[in-house]
Amino acid sequence: MTYDTNNIFAKILRGEIPCEKLYEDEHTLAFMDIMPQAEGHCLVIPKKPSTGLLDADPIVFASLFSTVQKVARAAKAAMQADGVTVMQFNGAAAGQTVFHLHVHILPRKDGIALKAHSGQMEKSEIIKANAEKIRAALTI
Ligand code: 5GP
Repeated sequence: MTYDTNNIFAKILRGEIPCEKLYEDEHTLAFMDIMPQAEGHCLVIPKKPSTGLLDADPIVFASLFSTVQKVARAAKAAMQADGVTVMQFNGAAAGQTVFHLHVHILPRKDGIALKAHSGQMEKSEIIKANAEKIRAALTI
């Protein structure tokens, strides 16, 4: 599969569409998922383009997972979660809907199941409020 430079996350990286940003450095960007499967669901993407894990340059993995760890710790603390699920899909058959490599961070609470993948848009006030809490936890 060839990389489509007009996928949603490429547009977010170019600043052509907005996102609720949590963290950014030279190699990665973290932002809130607009259809959260759990409270505080967020995404981390490398800036270097690839459709997924399988066609990625392995050079991206260290910075990508360093940001995943940083944001996962903050999201867990901010959401007062009991655990964190980290997910990543490759190909439509595997559930991938946006074809720029991304890692899902899902703060989990005991006994609360994940909502449907790419299910329902969350109210922007709720996304903003959760983002605020995660950004605050990132600075600690
Ligand atoms: P995938 O199915 O490819 O693993 O995950 C794509 C994720 O991106 C889904 O969880 C979906 O809710 C999220 N998503 C889709 N469009 C947008 C968007 O425009 N902005 C943000 N922030 N998230 C999006």
